[in-house]
Amino acid sequence: MHLIGFDIGGTKMEAMLIHIGKLKKDEPFLSSFEFQKSTGEIVPGFVLFKKRIATERHHGYEQIIDKMALLAKEVCAEKNLDIHSLSGIGLSVPGPVDPKTEIVTSSNTMILVGHNLHQDLRDKLKVSFPIISENDANCFALAETLCGAGLDYFKKTGIPVNKQVTVGLILGSGFGGGIIVNGKVVTGRRGGAGEVGHMTLYSGGYPCYCGRAGCAEQYLCGPALESALNNRIYSQIEKRPGASEIFELYKAQDPIALAVVKRYKSDLALFLGSLSCMLDPHYFVFGGGLSLQDIIYEGLEAKIGLNTYLPEQPISVYKHKIGDSAGAIGAALVVLDQNSLHF
Ligand SMILES: [Zn+2]
Repeated sequence: MHLIGFDIGGTKMEAMLIHIGKLKKDEPFLSSFEFQKSTGEIVPGFVLFKKRIATERHHGYEQIIDKMALLAKEVCAEKNLDIHSLSGIGLSVPGPVDPKTEIVTSSNTMILVGHNLHQDLRDKLKVSFPIISENDANCFALAETLCGAGLDYFKKTGIPVNKQVTVGLILGSGFGGGIIVNGKVVTGRRGGAGEVGHMTLYSGGYPCYCGRAGCAEQYLCGPALESALNNRIYSQIEKRPGASEIFELYKAQDPIALAVVKRYKSDLALFLGSLSCMLDPHYFVFGGGLSLQDIIYEGLEAKIGLNTYLPEQPISVYKHKIGDSAGAIGAALVVLDQNSLHF
């Protein structure tokens, strides 16, 4: 079975040709993964080919759909595959998708808002197989649950992915999340479940682009960490340290970096403690640029526990296992799941 997973961002889009199940002997592939089906069976998956291009959103929405159609055909042609033989295409999009209207309702890539991407792509490609859009953070959380952190958790505890409650969090240029319950994406009424970045962390705090103030994203995304440091002592310095440099300063015992990272982790633990009281997940899994910093994880589980009603039973926190491919692989897995495709 072949699927294409798209990861659509404001500046780049990537298409991945994915094979599910065993490959023919000696068939080349770029990378492999394994995932657990709802039956408990663990099956292999392979990324056969991938290609990344610029989204060039300034050229307009129609041009984005044209590019996606061309890219889908290109990745199939690379493996001499007839596009009509695909079992489906999954689109990981930067924003919530309304499960009823299937329209992107909000996005930092404004040009996508109000559109039904998968219907437009299906019309362009003139194919009959399923094409599905899903929020990128939900795709990340699903891929990590079925193929990454969740699979490791299963191997450690014996609890299969379809019995796990997971919260995936992107600590990057923004701060978003996806919720997986029993191996399935929780979309909510309007596709907004898991939009944790707009939960209030500080009443009356920093203004947010959503129109409110004190949203968690304004304190827990990478740029927030940079602002926290740069707005203090470094405001006079010409080259303002980025997030990775802040962690280097932290390691060098820079007192301001120590204070800023400590405050960041305290905010993160407070926030995740509140989320724990809501969902009581088996674990949190982090993606995004800040998730690569090991300092983030030091002592975090115990700190989260202190912000819950059961501090003696802290929730595990994992770094992502799938990496940059999680969005595209997750989108392909959404297609499998929503259409109950058999393989
Ligand atoms: Zn907000």
